[in-house]
Amino acid sequence: MNNADHFVGIDLGGTKILTALVNRAGQIVAEDYRKTRAKRGLDSVLDRIVESVGAVYEAAQIDPTAAARWVRAVGIGAPGPVESEAGILTSPPNLPGWQQVPLRALMEDRLGLPTVLDNDANAAALGEFRFGAGRGSQQMLYVTVSTGIGAGFVLNGALYRGVDGAAGEVGHMTIVPGGPYCGCGNQGCLEAVSSGTAIARQGREVLARDASRTLAEMAAGDPESVTAEMVAEAARSADREAGRIIAEAMDYLGIGIANLVNIFNPDLVVIGGGLTKMGAALFDPVRSGIRRRSVPVAAQRVQVVLAELGDRVGVIGAAAIAMEASAAVGQMGE
Ligand SMILES: [Zn+2]
Repeated sequence: MNNADHFVGIDLGGTKILTALVNRAGQIVAEDYRKTRAKRGLDSVLDRIVESVGAVYEAAQIDPTAAARWVRAVGIGAPGPVESEAGILTSPPNLPGWQQVPLRALMEDRLGLPTVLDNDANAAALGEFRFGAGRGSQQMLYVTVSTGIGAGFVLNGALYRGVDGAAGEVGHMTIVPGGPYCGCGNQGCLEAVSSGTAIARQGREVLARDASRTLAEMAAGDPESVTAEMVAEAARSADREAGRIIAEAMDYLGIGIANLVNIFNPDLVVIGGGLTKMGAALFDPVRSGIRRRSVPVAAQRVQVVLAELGDRVGVIGAAAIAMEASAAVGQMGE
C-alpha cells in the first residue's frame, strides 16, 4: 500500500517549466523553475522536465530512486487541447512540432510514477477551487485572461471536462459576429476582442493611425513594442484612444462572463491571468456586465473575485489534478 503523501505538480508552458512538490494541504514544499527551450524539440523538453523534477527531489532531500515512498502521483498542466483520459497533448500552439504527444505515458516511463495530464486552465481551476479563492464554493467558474482566454469549470466539486476534454474553451465563444480574426480561424471570438493579444493589436492599430500621443511616447516609435500593459497604462493616464480600447475589450469580457453566469448559475467566478493586474478596469465592467445581462437570480447570487494563487496556480493546480486522480483510483480499489 502506498502511503506517500506528496504530489509533483508540473506547469509546462511554451517558455517556462515550473515544478513543485506539493503536500495534501496544497502547500509547496520545494520548487524549481527553468526555461522550456521549446525550439530544441520534444526530447529536449522531456529531459528538462525530468531535470526539473530531479531538482525538486534534491531540494526536498528525496532519494530519486525511492521517490515513490514520498510521491504518490505526478500532475502535468499543459497548454492547449489535451485528451486527458488518453494522456495525449494534441497540438499545443506554443510548443512547435508537438503533435499528438502521449505526454502522460512518456513521463510515467521517465519518472516511474503514476502521471496525469490536463490542460492548464483545468489545472488552475481545480487549484483555485481546492486551495485558493474557490474554497467553499459549490459551483465555480475559473476564467483566465492573459495573452489568451481560457476557463475551467468545477461543478459539484469536480472538474467538468466535457465528453472529449474540450469543455471550457470560453475564449472561442463568438462575441462579435464578423469581428477580428482569432487564432482558431473564426472571427470575433472572446479571445480576439478581450485578450492581452487583442488589446495589444488594437494599440498598434491606434499607433499606426497616429491617434495616441501617450502610446507613441511609451512605444518610443516602435509599434511592435506595444503591449496590453502599455495600453492599460495609457488608459489610466486618460488617453482617449487607449481608454476606448480597454473599455470595449472589458465590456466584451463582461458579455462573455455574463453568458457563462446565465448558463451555469455559479456562486463564484474566479478570474486569474495577467490582465487582472488592471484591477477595477477589469473587474468593474465584468461585474456590471453581469448585473446588466445575466438573469436576476443568477446575477444576484454570483460573486466575482480575483484568483489567489498567483504565479503558483499552475503547479498547485497540476498537483491538485494528481490528487483528484489518485483519490479516484483509491475509491475504485476499495
Ligand atoms: Zn477563436
